[in-house]
Amino acid sequence: MSNSDIIPYGKQDVNQDDIDAVIQVLKSDFITQGPQIPAFENALKQYTGAGHAIAVSSGTAALHIACLALDVGKEDIVWTSPISFVASSNCALYCGAKVDFVDIDQNTYNMCATELENKLKTAKRENKLPKVVIPVHLSGQSCDMKQIAKLAKEYDFKIIEDASHAVGGKYENRPIGCCQYSDITVFSFHPVKIITTAEGGMTLTNSSELAAKMDLYRTHGITRDENRMTEKSHGPWYYQQIELGFNYRMTDIQAALGLNQLKRIDDFVKIRNELAERYNDLLKTLPVTIPTQIKESYSARHLYIICLNNPSSHQIVFKKMRELGIGVNLHYIPIHMQPYYKKLGFKEKTFTKAENYYKRAISLPLYSKLTYEQQDRVVNALKKALI
Ligand SMILES: *Cc1c(COP(=O)(O)O)cnc(C)c1O
Repeated sequence: MSNSDIIPYGKQDVNQDDIDAVIQVLKSDFITQGPQIPAFENALKQYTGAGHAIAVSSGTAALHIACLALDVGKEDIVWTSPISFVASSNCALYCGAKVDFVDIDQNTYNMCATELENKLKTAKRENKLPKVVIPVHLSGQSCDMKQIAKLAKEYDFKIIEDASHAVGGKYENRPIGCCQYSDITVFSFHPVKIITTAEGGMTLTNSSELAAKMDLYRTHGITRDENRMTEKSHGPWYYQQIELGFNYRMTDIQAALGLNQLKRIDDFVKIRNELAERYNDLLKTLPVTIPTQIKESYSARHLYIICLNNPSSHQIVFKKMRELGIGVNLHYIPIHMQPYYKKLGFKEKTFTKAENYYKRAISLPLYSKLTYEQQDRVVNALKKALI
C-alpha cells in the first residue's frame, strides 16, 4: 500500500492563501518579532473575547508559562486528567511541582467533576489541596467548567484549561478561550489540531497581571518597560532581566499562517462536526460506544473517538485497520501508566475509568479534508475488523 492510500487520523488543511501569507512574511523585513505576532494575538482575543493573548512556540510552552504565571513551584500540587497528552502534566513537573490525576467521567472521557469534588474533600483533610487544576477538553468537548469553577472557589485553586483540542468550540454559547471559568486557557496549533502554525501555541487570560508575567516568561524574563524595571534606565539600549524566562517565541512566519488559518476556523469546525455526525449515523448498529456530548458544549471535534464494547478485540481491530490503510490511533495512554510517571510512584489500577477507557478507545480519522468516500472506507474497514 502506498503512503497516499493511508488515511491518517488527522491532518492540516493549508490552502494557497495560507501559503501566500507565509511567503509575504518571508519577503518582508521581519520573519520573527514583527507585526504578525500581535496581529495574530489580537485576532484571537477578538475571536475568543479574552482580554489578553500571548503567542508562543508550542502548546507545551503555553502550558509551562501558564503554570509559572500562577506561581506553581516546588511545594505545590497540580491535578489534571490521566487521559491527555503528557504535556498536560509535564508542565507542572517543569516547575518542580507534584502532579496527581483526577479520574475521567466514563461517558464523556473528560475529567469527572464528581471525582474532582471527592478528591478535593480527601485532599483537604490531608492538607494536600492542589494549587492548580488543568481540565483538558478531550477531542474538543468542554469539561463541566461551571462545576469545576465552583469547586475552585470553594477549595481555592486556580484553573488552566488545556484547550489544545478545543479552539473553535464553545461552552454555554461562548467561545472556548474566553476564560469565563478559568484563569488561563491554552491552545495548541500543531498540524493535527483545528488550525495550525506548524508548531505553536497561545495562552489567553482576562488578568493583565498574569498576561504580563507570561509575556516575561516567553522572552527570557526580559522587559523593556521602564515601569517594571528595578533601577533607572542606563539609556536607550537598556533592558532588564527581572525573571528567569525562556525563548518560547512564535515566529512571524508561523503567526501569519495562524492568522490566515483563523479566517476558516468556523468552517473547519463545522465540517468536523458534520463528519462526526455522519460517523455517528454510520456506526449506529456497530458494537461501539461514542462519548456523550454535554448540552453546554459545542465541540471543535479535534478527535473522533470510539470505544469498543468488547475490549478483547482491541489489538485485533487496531492491527486490521492499520493493515487496511486506516491510520487509527489512541488518545491517550493514561499518563500515570507511562514509565516516567511510574518512577514517580504512580501505579496501575489507580484511575480505573481511565484504564478501562484505554482498553477500548480508538481514534478514527477526522479532519476537514476527509471526504465522504474516505469516511466510508474507514467505516467499512471497522466493520471488517470487528468481525
Ligand atoms: C497537542 C497537545 C498539547 C501540546 O501541544 P504542542 O503544541 O504539541 O506542544 C498539550 N495538551 C494536549 C491535550 C494536546 O493535545
